[in-house]
Amino acid sequence: MTTPVLSPDELGPTVCVGEILVEIVATSTGVGFLEAQPLIGPYPSGAPAIFIDQCGRIGGNAAMVGAVGDDDFGRVNIERLQRDGVDVSAITIDPDFPTGSAFVRYRPDGSRDFVYNIAKSAAARFGWTQGVRDLIGRSGHLHVMGTALSMSSACEVIDEAVRIVKKRGGTLSVDPNIRKELRLDQVTEERFSRLVSMADLLLPSGEELERAAGADGEEIAIQRLFERGIKEIVLKRGAEGATCFSRDGARIDSPAFLVTEVDPTGAGDCFGGAYLACRRLGMSVAQSITYASAAGARNVTVRGPMEGAGTRGELDSFIAQTPRKP
Ligand code: ATP
Ligand code: MG
Repeated sequence: MTTPVLSPDELGPTVCVGEILVEIVATSTGVGFLEAQPLIGPYPSGAPAIFIDQCGRIGGNAAMVGAVGDDDFGRVNIERLQRDGVDVSAITIDPDFPTGSAFVRYRPDGSRDFVYNIAKSAAARFGWTQGVRDLIGRSGHLHVMGTALSMSSACEVIDEAVRIVKKRGGTLSVDPNIRKELRLDQVTEERFSRLVSMADLLLPSGEELERAAGADGEEIAIQRLFERGIKEIVLKRGAEGATCFSRDGARIDSPAFLVTEVDPTGAGDCFGGAYLACRRLGMSVAQSITYASAAGARNVTVRGPMEGAGTRGELDSFIAQTPRKP
């Protein structure tokens, strides 16, 4: 028997800490928001929220730490997370600041323009409350999104939570998720590197792998990360699929499902949430990466960042009905 990479689901919920947002999407492609245009939303969003929603929806033990305003954008998020089985007891409702938001418009080449209200919204205003302390004290796993590290409130909770969760036999996963729009200062860069070194599971996408490893080339980067103590790495390759690398040298490639992409936002977060939940529920790498690939692919077929997150039943039918890339 090899030791499991992640703590079992029974140890306590997977906790994700970070920004909870609504997303409002332009229905036409084009450049930015300089003229009046049709928009659709609000959709519940924020990378950590999407991740934990898919984690709960597939049947994993899941909980969220973050904050929303006392407004409909906040309620949209709390209601969705609750519906999908996520413990929302540690989400603060800020009486003074509005729920965070992101307006997004796709350019014809697939790149995106954003208008954010995160740093000065409720999304960035939370910390150690009694509710958070109680939750972390009974949680079994912490998932960290790189995007959350640009908020000092999240860093404060994450630094303390890692210590507590690891002490009680829990595990840590990290999705670097560092978009080029979100620059890291030196302190954050060091914190990121520390977290990567402590992670049991790493979920980078594309070039984030090399950035996290501080090395060029896929093979070298993987080797460097294993040397730092990481136990499992799942590399997301968008429409090209995904690969899991295990410490013992095993490699499993998961070809992408053939779908028509409507809205790529949230694919990586749904992939990660499904993968993590499946692994903590005791499934093999092969089965977990299949569910994860299905969760990512299904989510891109629907407009809205977490609108395509699937239950286990929905993903089973998706897998049965959808061909994969050769
Ligand atoms: P995000 O924009 O959410 O941060 P990401 O870059 O972290 O995304 P991706 O690699 O884009 O993550 O997507 C995660 C997984 O979802 C992929 O590895 C793949 O399995 C699946 N996926 C994403 N896009 C597609 C697609 N167009 N067709 C099929 N599968 C897809
Ligand atoms: Mg990502």
